[in-house]
Amino acid sequence: MPVFIKETVFLLSEIWYNISMSQVLYRKYRPQNFSEVLAQETVKTVLKNAIKQSRVSHAYLFTGPRGVGKTTIARILAKAINCLSPKDGEPCGKCDSCLLIADGRFLDLFEIDAASYTGVDNIREIIDGVKFAPTYGKYKVFIIDEVHMLSKAAFNALLKTLEEPPAHAVFILATTEIHKVPATIISRTQRFDFRSISQADILKLFETVLKEQGTQISPEAQKLIAQASGGSFRDALSILDQILALGGEKITLEQVEDILGVTRLASSQKLLGFILAEDSGGGVKFIKDLAFGGLDLVQFTKNFLEYLRLVLLVKLGTENSDSLGLSPEDQGILTEQASNLNGGRLLDIIKKFLETYRETKQSPVQELPLLAAILSLCGELASTSSPASPNRDENLGGRTPAKAAAKIPGKLDLGAVVDGWAKVLARAKDYNHSLLSSLRLGRIVRVEGDVLVLAFPYSFHKQTVDALKNRIVVEQVLEEVFNEKIRIKVFLEKEIENVKDENNSDLVSEAIKILGE
Ligand SMILES: [Zn+2]
Repeated sequence: MPVFIKETVFLLSEIWYNISMSQVLYRKYRPQNFSEVLAQETVKTVLKNAIKQSRVSHAYLFTGPRGVGKTTIARILAKAINCLSPKDGEPCGKCDSCLLIADGRFLDLFEIDAASYTGVDNIREIIDGVKFAPTYGKYKVFIIDEVHMLSKAAFNALLKTLEEPPAHAVFILATTEIHKVPATIISRTQRFDFRSISQADILKLFETVLKEQGTQISPEAQKLIAQASGGSFRDALSILDQILALGGEKITLEQVEDILGVTRLASSQKLLGFILAEDSGGGVKFIKDLAFGGLDLVQFTKNFLEYLRLVLLVKLGTENSDSLGLSPEDQGILTEQASNLNGGRLLDIIKKFLETYRETKQSPVQELPLLAAILSLCGELASTSSPASPNRDENLGGRTPAKAAAKIPGKLDLGAVVDGWAKVLARAKDYNHSLLSSLRLGRIVRVEGDVLVLAFPYSFHKQTVDALKNRIVVEQVLEEVFNEKIRIKVFLEKEIENVKDENNSDLVSEAIKILGE
Protein backbone atom coordinates (compact mmCIF):
# COMPACT_ATOMS: atom_id res chain seq x y z
CA MET A 1 0.00 0.00 0.00
CA PRO A 2 2.58 2.67 0.99
CA VAL A 3 4.54 2.01 -2.20
CA PHE A 4 1.98 3.25 -4.60
CA ILE A 5 1.00 6.14 -2.37
CA LYS A 6 4.64 7.20 -2.47
CA GLU A 7 4.91 6.94 -6.21
CA THR A 8 1.63 8.50 -7.00
CA VAL A 9 1.42 11.83 -8.62
CA PHE A 10 -1.84 13.60 -8.78
CA LEU A 11 -3.74 16.53 -7.67
CA LEU A 12 -7.22 16.55 -6.33
CA SER A 13 -9.82 19.10 -7.14
CA GLU A 14 -11.60 21.27 -4.67
CA ILE A 15 -13.88 20.01 -2.00
CA TRP A 16 -17.10 21.53 -2.87
CA TYR A 17 -17.84 20.85 -6.50
CA ASN A 18 -18.06 17.33 -7.62
CA ILE A 19 -20.24 15.20 -9.68
CA SER A 20 -20.12 12.36 -7.31
CA MET A 21 -19.33 9.36 -9.34
CA SER A 22 -17.36 6.55 -7.86
CA GLN A 23 -14.42 7.87 -5.86
CA VAL A 24 -12.24 4.85 -5.33
CA LEU A 25 -9.26 6.17 -7.30
CA TYR A 26 -9.77 9.66 -6.01
CA ARG A 27 -9.28 8.53 -2.44
CA LYS A 28 -6.48 6.17 -3.34
CA TYR A 29 -4.42 8.75 -5.19
CA ARG A 30 -4.59 11.59 -2.70
CA PRO A 31 -1.18 13.31 -2.70
CA GLN A 32 0.54 13.46 0.66
CA ASN A 33 3.41 15.82 -0.08
CA PHE A 34 4.45 18.53 -2.54
CA SER A 35 6.33 16.22 -4.88
CA GLU A 36 3.28 14.00 -5.32
CA VAL A 37 1.25 16.95 -6.57
CA LEU A 38 1.21 17.40 -10.32
CA ALA A 39 1.59 20.91 -11.68
CA GLN A 40 1.70 24.21 -9.72
CA GLU A 41 5.52 24.02 -9.81
CA THR A 42 6.10 27.69 -8.92
CA VAL A 43 3.76 27.62 -5.95
CA LYS A 44 5.36 24.45 -4.62
CA THR A 45 8.93 25.78 -5.01
CA VAL A 46 8.20 29.04 -3.20
CA LEU A 47 6.41 27.29 -0.37
CA LYS A 48 9.11 24.65 0.06
CA ASN A 49 11.87 27.26 0.14
CA ALA A 50 9.99 29.27 2.77
CA ILE A 51 9.58 26.14 4.92
CA LYS A 52 13.27 25.26 4.56
CA GLN A 53 14.17 28.73 5.84
CA SER A 54 11.49 28.59 8.56
CA ARG A 55 9.82 31.67 7.12
CA VAL A 56 6.20 30.83 7.84
CA SER A 57 3.70 33.52 6.91
CA HIS A 58 0.60 34.09 9.03
CA ALA A 59 -1.74 34.33 6.08
CA TYR A 60 -1.66 32.76 2.62
CA LEU A 61 -4.12 33.40 -0.16
CA PHE A 62 -4.52 30.70 -2.83
CA THR A 63 -6.46 31.82 -5.88
CA GLY A 64 -7.28 30.09 -9.16
CA PRO A 65 -9.92 28.04 -10.98
CA ARG A 66 -11.65 25.16 -9.25
CA GLY A 67 -9.99 21.77 -9.30
CA VAL A 68 -6.40 22.96 -9.61
CA GLY A 69 -5.19 21.81 -6.20
CA LYS A 70 -5.61 24.75 -3.85
CA THR A 71 -7.03 22.79 -0.93
CA THR A 72 -4.67 19.88 -1.56
CA ILE A 73 -1.63 22.12 -1.33
CA ALA A 74 -3.15 23.91 1.66
CA ARG A 75 -3.33 20.58 3.52
CA ILE A 76 0.23 19.67 2.59
CA LEU A 77 1.42 23.09 3.73
CA ALA A 78 -0.39 22.59 7.06
CA LYS A 79 1.41 19.26 7.39
CA ALA A 80 4.83 20.64 6.45
CA ILE A 81 4.79 23.49 8.97
CA ASN A 82 3.63 21.18 11.75
CA CYS A 83 5.95 18.31 10.84
CA LEU A 84 8.39 17.36 13.60
CA SER A 85 11.18 16.54 11.13
CA PRO A 86 10.58 18.16 7.74
CA LYS A 87 13.06 17.33 4.98
CA ASP A 88 13.88 19.80 2.25
CA GLY A 89 10.61 21.66 2.81
CA GLU A 90 8.57 18.46 2.62
CA PRO A 91 6.60 16.89 5.48
CA CYS A 92 8.23 13.63 6.63
CA GLY A 93 4.94 11.73 6.49
CA LYS A 94 5.97 9.59 9.47
CA CYS A 95 5.86 11.75 12.60
CA ASP A 96 2.76 11.98 14.81
CA SER A 97 1.73 15.35 13.36
CA CYS A 98 2.00 14.09 9.76
CA LEU A 99 0.08 10.91 10.54
CA LEU A 100 -2.68 12.71 12.42
CA ILE A 101 -3.14 15.25 9.63
CA ALA A 102 -3.20 12.53 6.96
CA ASP A 103 -5.82 10.80 9.05
CA GLY A 104 -7.94 13.93 9.54
CA ARG A 105 -7.51 13.73 13.30
CA PHE A 106 -5.15 16.65 13.94
CA LEU A 107 -6.81 18.92 16.48
CA ASP A 108 -5.00 22.09 15.40
CA LEU A 109 -6.12 21.97 11.77
CA PHE A 110 -9.44 23.63 11.03
CA GLU A 111 -10.93 23.23 7.58
CA ILE A 112 -13.82 25.52 6.84
CA ASP A 113 -15.89 25.56 3.67
CA ALA A 114 -17.24 29.09 3.60
CA ALA A 115 -19.60 28.13 0.77
CA SER A 116 -21.56 25.83 3.02
CA TYR A 117 -24.28 26.93 5.35
CA THR A 118 -22.64 25.69 8.50
CA GLY A 119 -19.37 27.29 7.46
CA VAL A 120 -20.92 30.72 7.49
CA ASP A 121 -22.62 30.02 10.79
CA ASN A 122 -19.61 28.76 12.67
CA ILE A 123 -16.76 30.72 11.24
CA ARG A 124 -16.76 33.55 13.73
CA GLU A 125 -16.68 31.17 16.64
CA ILE A 126 -13.75 29.33 15.08
CA ILE A 127 -11.83 32.51 14.36
CA ASP A 128 -12.49 33.67 17.91
CA GLY A 129 -10.74 30.55 19.16
CA VAL A 130 -7.51 31.49 17.37
CA LYS A 131 -6.07 33.18 20.46
CA PHE A 132 -5.77 29.90 22.33
CA ALA A 133 -2.48 28.06 21.89
CA PRO A 134 -2.39 24.91 19.75
CA THR A 135 -3.23 21.73 21.67
CA TYR A 136 -0.62 19.58 19.99
CA GLY A 137 1.10 21.07 16.97
CA LYS A 138 3.48 23.97 16.42
CA TYR A 139 0.83 25.95 14.56
CA LYS A 140 -2.91 26.24 14.63
CA VAL A 141 -3.88 26.19 10.94
CA PHE A 142 -7.12 27.52 9.52
CA ILE A 143 -7.93 26.56 5.93
CA ILE A 144 -10.87 28.61 4.71
CA ASP A 145 -12.11 27.38 1.33
CA GLU A 146 -14.21 29.66 -0.89
CA VAL A 147 -13.28 32.49 1.44
CA HIS A 148 -15.10 35.05 -0.71
CA MET A 149 -18.37 33.56 0.56
CA LEU A 150 -17.80 34.73 4.12
CA SER A 151 -20.36 37.07 5.61
CA LYS A 152 -19.42 40.64 6.34
CA ALA A 153 -19.29 39.93 10.06
CA ALA A 154 -17.00 36.96 9.48
CA PHE A 155 -14.70 39.02 7.25
CA ASN A 156 -14.47 41.64 9.97
CA ALA A 157 -13.56 39.05 12.57
CA LEU A 158 -10.97 37.61 10.19
CA LEU A 159 -9.52 41.03 9.40
CA LYS A 160 -9.15 41.83 13.08
CA THR A 161 -7.24 38.59 13.59
CA LEU A 162 -5.02 39.17 10.55
CA GLU A 163 -4.09 42.63 11.81
CA GLU A 164 -2.51 41.14 14.92
CA PRO A 165 -2.20 37.40 14.44
CA PRO A 166 -0.99 35.32 17.39
CA ALA A 167 2.44 33.81 16.68
CA HIS A 168 0.97 30.30 16.54
CA ALA A 169 -1.75 31.03 13.95
CA VAL A 170 -1.59 30.38 10.20
CA PHE A 171 -4.47 31.15 7.86
CA ILE A 172 -4.68 29.62 4.39
CA LEU A 173 -7.46 31.25 2.41
CA ALA A 174 -8.57 29.71 -0.90
CA THR A 175 -10.85 31.26 -3.47
CA THR A 176 -12.00 30.94 -7.06
CA GLU A 177 -13.21 34.55 -7.03
CA ILE A 178 -10.43 36.80 -5.82
CA HIS A 179 -12.31 39.95 -6.88
CA LYS A 180 -14.83 39.28 -4.13
CA VAL A 181 -12.25 39.17 -1.37
CA PRO A 182 -11.93 42.55 0.35
CA ALA A 183 -8.69 44.42 -0.48
CA THR A 184 -8.03 44.86 3.24
CA ILE A 185 -7.82 41.08 3.57
CA ILE A 186 -5.73 40.56 0.41
CA SER A 187 -3.16 43.13 1.52
CA ARG A 188 -2.50 41.15 4.68
CA THR A 189 -1.81 37.86 2.92
CA GLN A 190 0.90 36.30 0.81
CA ARG A 191 -0.82 35.63 -2.48
CA PHE A 192 -0.32 32.58 -4.76
CA ASP A 193 -1.94 32.33 -8.17
CA PHE A 194 -2.67 28.73 -9.20
CA ARG A 195 -2.64 27.96 -12.92
CA SER A 196 -5.17 25.90 -14.86
CA ILE A 197 -4.66 22.16 -15.31
CA SER A 198 -3.69 21.04 -18.80
CA GLN A 199 -4.68 17.91 -20.66
CA ALA A 200 -1.01 16.88 -20.48
CA ASP A 201 -1.17 16.99 -16.67
CA ILE A 202 -4.18 14.71 -16.67
CA LEU A 203 -2.50 12.29 -19.09
CA LYS A 204 0.55 12.23 -16.82
CA LEU A 205 -1.72 11.23 -13.95
CA PHE A 206 -3.31 8.46 -16.04
CA GLU A 207 0.12 7.09 -16.85
CA THR A 208 0.80 6.52 -13.16
CA VAL A 209 -2.63 5.22 -12.28
CA LEU A 210 -2.85 2.80 -15.22
CA LYS A 211 0.61 1.43 -14.48
CA GLU A 212 -0.44 0.77 -10.89
CA GLN A 213 -3.68 -0.81 -12.00
CA GLY A 214 -2.05 -2.94 -14.70
CA THR A 215 -4.50 -1.76 -17.33
CA GLN A 216 -3.92 -0.35 -20.81
CA ILE A 217 -6.13 2.30 -22.35
CA SER A 218 -5.43 3.50 -25.87
CA PRO A 219 -4.01 7.05 -26.14
CA GLU A 220 -7.06 8.29 -28.05
CA ALA A 221 -9.33 6.91 -25.38
CA GLN A 222 -7.26 8.57 -22.66
CA LYS A 223 -7.55 11.90 -24.45
CA LEU A 224 -11.28 11.46 -24.68
CA ILE A 225 -11.51 10.92 -20.93
CA ALA A 226 -9.30 13.96 -20.29
CA GLN A 227 -11.60 16.06 -22.45
CA ALA A 228 -14.69 14.78 -20.69
CA SER A 229 -13.23 15.67 -17.31
CA GLY A 230 -13.28 19.38 -18.11
CA GLY A 231 -9.83 19.96 -16.60
CA SER A 232 -10.70 18.48 -13.22
CA PHE A 233 -8.51 15.75 -11.81
CA ARG A 234 -11.27 14.57 -9.59
CA ASP A 235 -13.70 14.13 -12.46
CA ALA A 236 -11.01 12.50 -14.59
CA LEU A 237 -10.40 9.87 -11.91
CA SER A 238 -14.11 9.30 -11.43
CA ILE A 239 -14.57 8.52 -15.11
CA LEU A 240 -11.50 6.32 -15.04
CA ASP A 241 -13.03 4.46 -12.09
CA GLN A 242 -16.06 3.59 -14.16
CA ILE A 243 -13.95 2.50 -17.08
CA LEU A 244 -11.66 0.29 -15.00
CA ALA A 245 -14.76 -1.36 -13.59
CA LEU A 246 -15.18 -2.92 -17.04
CA GLY A 247 -12.24 -5.14 -16.18
CA GLY A 248 -9.76 -6.53 -18.70
CA GLU A 249 -6.21 -5.57 -19.47
CA LYS A 250 -6.85 -3.50 -22.57
CA ILE A 251 -9.58 -0.94 -22.96
CA THR A 252 -10.45 0.41 -26.39
CA LEU A 253 -11.65 3.76 -27.66
CA GLU A 254 -15.01 2.16 -28.50
CA GLN A 255 -15.50 0.99 -24.93
CA VAL A 256 -14.72 4.45 -23.58
CA GLU A 257 -17.06 6.03 -26.09
CA ASP A 258 -19.69 3.60 -24.94
CA ILE A 259 -19.30 4.64 -21.34
CA LEU A 260 -19.12 8.34 -22.04
CA GLY A 261 -21.66 8.70 -24.75
CA VAL A 262 -23.60 6.07 -26.54
CA THR A 263 -24.60 4.03 -23.53
CA ARG A 264 -25.45 7.16 -21.67
CA LEU A 265 -27.84 8.31 -24.35
CA ALA A 266 -29.36 4.92 -25.00
CA SER A 267 -30.12 4.20 -21.36
CA SER A 268 -31.63 7.64 -20.87
CA GLN A 269 -33.86 7.13 -23.89
CA LYS A 270 -34.88 3.75 -22.56
CA LEU A 271 -35.84 5.09 -19.15
CA LEU A 272 -37.83 7.97 -20.62
CA GLY A 273 -39.55 5.43 -22.87
CA PHE A 274 -40.76 3.45 -19.85
CA ILE A 275 -42.00 6.63 -18.17
CA LEU A 276 -43.80 7.78 -21.32
CA ALA A 277 -45.50 4.41 -21.61
CA GLU A 278 -46.25 4.52 -17.86
CA ASP A 279 -44.66 1.09 -17.74
CA SER A 280 -43.56 1.03 -14.11
CA GLY A 281 -42.68 -2.68 -14.21
CA GLY A 282 -40.30 -2.19 -17.14
CA GLY A 283 -38.76 0.91 -15.57
CA VAL A 284 -38.18 -0.79 -12.22
CA LYS A 285 -36.59 -3.83 -13.83
CA PHE A 286 -34.38 -1.58 -15.94
CA ILE A 287 -33.04 0.30 -12.88
CA LYS A 288 -32.54 -2.94 -10.96
CA ASP A 289 -30.49 -4.32 -13.84
CA LEU A 290 -28.34 -1.19 -13.93
CA ALA A 291 -27.77 -1.38 -10.18
CA PHE A 292 -26.93 -5.05 -10.44
CA GLY A 293 -24.43 -4.27 -13.18
CA GLY A 294 -22.64 -1.93 -10.77
CA LEU A 295 -23.50 1.26 -12.62
CA ASP A 296 -23.15 4.46 -10.61
CA LEU A 297 -26.76 5.56 -10.32
CA VAL A 298 -25.94 9.12 -9.24
CA GLN A 299 -24.08 9.59 -12.49
CA PHE A 300 -26.84 7.81 -14.36
CA THR A 301 -29.42 10.20 -12.90
CA LYS A 302 -27.29 13.16 -13.89
CA ASN A 303 -27.00 11.80 -17.43
CA PHE A 304 -30.74 11.36 -17.52
CA LEU A 305 -31.21 15.00 -16.48
CA GLU A 306 -28.88 16.01 -19.31
CA TYR A 307 -31.02 14.03 -21.72
CA LEU A 308 -34.18 15.68 -20.36
CA ARG A 309 -32.50 19.01 -21.04
CA LEU A 310 -32.11 18.00 -24.69
CA VAL A 311 -35.75 16.97 -24.85
CA LEU A 312 -36.73 20.30 -23.33
CA LEU A 313 -34.63 22.24 -25.83
CA VAL A 314 -36.16 20.37 -28.75
CA LYS A 315 -39.61 20.86 -27.25
CA LEU A 316 -39.03 24.58 -26.85
CA GLY A 317 -37.85 24.72 -30.44
CA THR A 318 -34.61 26.42 -29.42
CA GLU A 319 -32.68 23.44 -30.70
CA ASN A 320 -33.23 21.15 -33.65
CA SER A 321 -32.44 17.56 -32.92
CA ASP A 322 -30.20 17.49 -36.00
CA SER A 323 -27.99 20.28 -34.60
CA LEU A 324 -27.03 18.24 -31.54
CA GLY A 325 -24.49 16.01 -33.23
CA LEU A 326 -26.43 12.79 -32.60
CA SER A 327 -26.71 9.76 -34.82
CA PRO A 328 -29.79 9.74 -37.10
CA GLU A 329 -31.28 6.96 -35.02
CA ASP A 330 -30.85 8.83 -31.73
CA GLN A 331 -32.18 12.00 -33.34
CA GLY A 332 -35.29 10.13 -34.37
CA ILE A 333 -35.93 8.80 -30.87
CA LEU A 334 -35.28 12.22 -29.30
CA THR A 335 -37.68 13.99 -31.65
CA GLU A 336 -40.34 11.37 -31.14
CA GLN A 337 -40.06 11.47 -27.35
CA ALA A 338 -40.17 15.27 -27.34
CA SER A 339 -43.32 15.29 -29.45
CA ASN A 340 -45.00 12.62 -27.33
CA LEU A 341 -44.57 14.69 -24.19
CA ASN A 342 -46.70 17.66 -23.34
CA GLY A 343 -44.96 20.54 -21.61
CA GLY A 344 -46.54 20.08 -18.21
CA ARG A 345 -45.63 16.42 -18.07
CA LEU A 346 -42.07 17.18 -19.14
CA LEU A 347 -41.67 19.76 -16.36
CA ASP A 348 -43.06 17.26 -13.85
CA ILE A 349 -40.49 14.70 -14.94
CA ILE A 350 -37.63 17.22 -14.80
CA LYS A 351 -38.62 18.41 -11.32
CA LYS A 352 -39.00 14.88 -10.09
CA PHE A 353 -35.56 13.88 -11.31
CA LEU A 354 -33.85 17.02 -9.97
CA GLU A 355 -35.20 15.93 -6.61
CA THR A 356 -34.18 12.34 -7.26
CA TYR A 357 -30.65 13.39 -8.16
CA ARG A 358 -30.19 15.04 -4.79
CA GLU A 359 -31.78 12.14 -2.93
CA THR A 360 -29.72 9.54 -4.77
CA LYS A 361 -26.55 11.27 -3.62
CA GLN A 362 -27.67 10.99 0.00
CA SER A 363 -29.43 7.66 -0.04
CA PRO A 364 -27.65 4.67 1.49
CA VAL A 365 -29.31 2.55 -1.21
CA GLN A 366 -28.79 4.41 -4.46
CA GLU A 367 -31.55 2.75 -6.44
CA LEU A 368 -34.37 3.57 -3.99
CA PRO A 369 -35.01 7.22 -4.96
CA LEU A 370 -34.96 6.21 -8.65
CA LEU A 371 -37.47 3.42 -8.13
CA ALA A 372 -39.71 5.76 -6.16
CA ALA A 373 -39.51 8.39 -8.91
CA ILE A 374 -40.46 5.89 -11.59
CA LEU A 375 -43.39 4.53 -9.60
CA SER A 376 -44.58 8.03 -8.83
CA LEU A 377 -44.32 9.25 -12.43
CA CYS A 378 -46.09 6.13 -13.67
CA GLY A 379 -48.95 6.90 -11.28
CA GLU A 380 -48.26 3.93 -9.01
CA LEU A 381 -47.60 5.97 -5.90
CA ALA A 382 -49.72 8.79 -4.60
CA SER A 383 -47.10 11.48 -4.25
CA THR A 384 -47.75 14.51 -2.14
CA SER A 385 -45.00 16.50 -3.78
CA SER A 386 -45.76 15.82 -7.43
CA PRO A 387 -48.61 17.88 -8.78
CA ALA A 388 -48.58 15.67 -11.87
CA SER A 389 -51.52 13.76 -13.23
CA PRO A 390 -54.81 15.60 -12.80
CA ASN A 391 -53.80 18.91 -14.29
CA ARG A 392 -51.62 17.91 -17.18
CA ASP A 393 -51.67 20.80 -19.51
CA GLU A 394 -50.98 20.94 -23.21
CA ASN A 395 -48.76 24.01 -22.92
CA LEU A 396 -45.23 24.01 -21.69
CA GLY A 397 -45.28 25.04 -18.06
CA GLY A 398 -48.52 23.20 -17.43
CA ARG A 399 -48.73 24.80 -14.01
CA THR A 400 -52.02 26.63 -14.13
CA PRO A 401 -52.24 30.23 -12.88
CA ALA A 402 -55.11 29.18 -10.61
CA LYS A 403 -52.83 26.80 -8.77
CA ALA A 404 -50.15 29.43 -8.24
CA ALA A 405 -52.70 31.99 -7.14
CA ALA A 406 -54.19 29.60 -4.62
CA LYS A 407 -51.05 29.94 -2.57
CA ILE A 408 -51.44 32.59 0.10
CA PRO A 409 -48.72 35.14 -0.58
CA GLY A 410 -46.72 37.05 1.97
CA LYS A 411 -45.90 34.31 4.45
CA LEU A 412 -42.25 34.75 3.74
CA ASP A 413 -40.36 37.85 4.73
CA LEU A 414 -37.19 39.39 3.38
CA GLY A 415 -35.23 38.65 6.56
CA ALA A 416 -35.97 34.95 6.31
CA VAL A 417 -34.78 34.88 2.71
CA VAL A 418 -31.59 36.74 3.54
CA ASP A 419 -30.93 34.40 6.48
CA GLY A 420 -31.50 31.31 4.37
CA TRP A 421 -29.66 32.51 1.28
CA ALA A 422 -26.39 30.77 2.06
CA LYS A 423 -28.36 27.54 2.30
CA VAL A 424 -29.98 28.23 -1.06
CA LEU A 425 -26.54 28.73 -2.64
CA ALA A 426 -25.18 25.61 -0.99
CA ARG A 427 -28.03 23.53 -2.40
CA ALA A 428 -27.92 25.13 -5.84
CA LYS A 429 -24.33 24.02 -6.15
CA ASP A 430 -25.49 20.40 -5.99
CA TYR A 431 -27.34 20.94 -9.21
CA ASN A 432 -25.30 23.17 -11.41
CA HIS A 433 -21.98 24.88 -10.97
CA SER A 434 -22.37 27.55 -13.64
CA LEU A 435 -25.75 28.46 -12.22
CA LEU A 436 -24.20 28.81 -8.79
CA SER A 437 -21.54 31.24 -9.93
CA SER A 438 -24.20 33.45 -11.50
CA LEU A 439 -26.65 33.12 -8.64
CA ARG A 440 -24.00 34.22 -6.18
CA LEU A 441 -23.82 37.60 -7.86
CA GLY A 442 -27.52 38.15 -7.34
CA ARG A 443 -28.66 40.72 -4.82
CA ILE A 444 -31.87 40.06 -2.93
CA VAL A 445 -33.97 43.15 -3.62
CA ARG A 446 -37.25 42.28 -1.96
CA VAL A 447 -39.99 39.75 -1.50
CA GLU A 448 -43.35 40.50 -3.04
CA GLY A 449 -45.89 37.96 -1.88
CA ASP A 450 -44.48 34.70 -3.16
CA VAL A 451 -42.18 36.35 -5.65
CA LEU A 452 -38.53 36.89 -4.83
CA VAL A 453 -36.96 39.78 -6.73
CA LEU A 454 -33.25 39.48 -7.52
CA ALA A 455 -30.93 41.99 -9.17
CA PHE A 456 -27.75 41.24 -11.10
CA PRO A 457 -24.90 43.52 -12.10
CA TYR A 458 -24.45 41.99 -15.58
CA SER A 459 -26.90 40.66 -18.13
CA PHE A 460 -24.96 37.42 -18.61
CA HIS A 461 -25.64 36.41 -15.02
CA LYS A 462 -29.19 37.61 -15.14
CA GLN A 463 -29.85 35.57 -18.28
CA THR A 464 -28.22 32.47 -16.85
CA VAL A 465 -30.43 32.50 -13.78
CA ASP A 466 -33.47 33.41 -15.88
CA ALA A 467 -33.04 30.52 -18.32
CA LEU A 468 -36.01 28.19 -17.93
CA LYS A 469 -34.01 25.15 -16.85
CA ASN A 470 -32.14 27.18 -14.24
CA ARG A 471 -35.22 28.93 -12.96
CA ILE A 472 -36.74 25.51 -12.35
CA VAL A 473 -33.69 24.60 -10.30
CA VAL A 474 -33.69 27.84 -8.29
CA GLU A 475 -37.38 27.56 -7.49
CA GLN A 476 -36.99 23.93 -6.56
CA VAL A 477 -34.18 24.85 -4.17
CA LEU A 478 -36.18 27.74 -2.71
CA GLU A 479 -39.03 25.36 -2.04
CA GLU A 480 -36.68 22.92 -0.33
CA VAL A 481 -35.10 25.57 1.86
CA PHE A 482 -38.15 27.64 2.79
CA ASN A 483 -40.79 24.96 2.45
CA GLU A 484 -42.88 27.24 0.26
CA LYS A 485 -43.49 27.71 -3.42
CA ILE A 486 -41.54 30.84 -4.32
CA ARG A 487 -41.18 32.31 -7.78
CA ILE A 488 -38.20 34.39 -8.78
CA LYS A 489 -38.07 37.48 -10.91
CA VAL A 490 -34.73 38.79 -12.07
CA PHE A 491 -33.57 42.24 -13.12
CA LEU A 492 -30.42 44.09 -13.95
CA GLU A 493 -29.35 46.44 -11.18
CA LYS A 494 -29.96 49.37 -13.48
CA GLU A 495 -33.51 48.20 -14.18
CA ILE A 496 -34.40 48.07 -10.52
CA GLU A 497 -35.11 51.78 -10.31
CA ASN A 498 -37.70 51.44 -13.07
CA VAL A 499 -39.72 48.74 -11.42
CA LYS A 500 -39.83 50.22 -7.95
CA ASP A 501 -43.33 51.49 -8.49
CA GLU A 502 -44.80 48.24 -9.67
CA ASN A 503 -47.14 46.84 -7.10
CA ASN A 504 -47.29 43.33 -5.73
CA SER A 505 -50.03 41.92 -7.86
CA ASP A 506 -48.36 43.10 -11.06
CA LEU A 507 -45.20 41.31 -10.06
CA VAL A 508 -47.04 38.17 -9.09
CA SER A 509 -49.14 38.03 -12.22
CA GLU A 510 -46.20 38.74 -14.44
CA ALA A 511 -44.20 36.03 -12.72
CA ILE A 512 -47.03 33.59 -13.30
CA LYS A 513 -47.21 34.69 -16.90
CA ILE A 514 -43.49 34.06 -17.38
CA LEU A 515 -43.82 30.61 -15.88
CA GLY A 516 -46.73 29.85 -18.11
CA GLU A 517 -44.85 30.74 -21.26
ZN1 LIG B 1 6.29 14.80 9.83
